Amino acid sequence: MITELQPRLTNHFAELIKANKLSHAYLLAGPAGVGKKELALWVAQGIFCLHSQDGAPCRQCNNCQRIAQHEFSDVVEIAPDGNTIKVDQIRFLKAEFTKSGFEGRKKIFIIEDAEKMTANAANSLLKFLEEPSGDVSAFLLTQNANLMLPTIISRCQVFELTALAFESRLEALTAQNVPTARAHILASLTDSLEQGLALAEDESFNELLVDIWDWFKFIMNNDLRAFVNVSTQLKRHFTDKKRQAEILDLIVLLTRDVMLLKFDEQTQVAFMAHQDELVAFANKLNTKRVCQAVELVLAARKLQAVNVSFQNILETLTLELTSCYHE
Ligand SMILES: [Zn+2]
Repeated sequence: MITELQPRLTNHFAELIKANKLSHAYLLAGPAGVGKKELALWVAQGIFCLHSQDGAPCRQCNNCQRIAQHEFSDVVEIAPDGNTIKVDQIRFLKAEFTKSGFEGRKKIFIIEDAEKMTANAANSLLKFLEEPSGDVSAFLLTQNANLMLPTIISRCQVFELTALAFESRLEALTAQNVPTARAHILASLTDSLEQGLALAEDESFNELLVDIWDWFKFIMNNDLRAFVNVSTQLKRHFTDKKRQAEILDLIVLLTRDVMLLKFDEQTQVAFMAHQDELVAFANKLNTKRVCQAVELVLAARKLQAVNVSFQNILETLTLELTSCYHE
């Protein structure tokens, strides 16, 4: 829920809606999963809700539901068509707002990935922002405000949306019925609540969690079956670049857990279900080895980014980690 994800901003916008003081244009900037789109839709609901309370939408009424389903004619959404937002899309937007019958009514438009506007599209939008026809509020969403025309940014009120802190992510995940142990891993793995929830429901990811722990246990036990395990167990998870990156991120978390526990920091341990085994292991190691292990995984992650065979990367890492921890 966006009110949990961005409580400060939903409160702020509710007050603006209540006082009827929304600006013409907002730029909502921030990484994926922080709720940019949800916030824009929530504001739109707040404006058109039939039972709004102090500017906050009920999210139940006909208008709220139609907005949530992207079927409300006074809320127009635009997203990249392919890799760019083209000038025709902005023209379509303008046409929507100058249609007869809409005059005098409040209108909202939302542009996703606004940094992907072509120069023509951006200029066309700029004219519209300078001379809006009627009562319009625009929400431009972007992950990368640096790529946007300064002239557009200067027309907008800018809000930076930041990710939730670890504790809040944890709370939000468990509130969505993600088991505590898994929530700890997901909240550590990604600062995007959206991505965390998607992974929580991904069966193959849950199988990966079991397999990666088996693999790490071999390493902790100085058991070279860890090496064989890469091709017999883990390999089935090498489905694509994204999953491969997640595998390395999980290994970063495992080595980081060992480090955190070595320093007696228990609050942010990801693999909390295995905390006792990790503590016993950490206690046997010296601090230098513990830190070196994290560096080894970070180096492997760089290699993964440049298209080296993933099986090679993981087999090499297996040998390096085993000797780092045990020699
Ligand atoms: Zn409503």
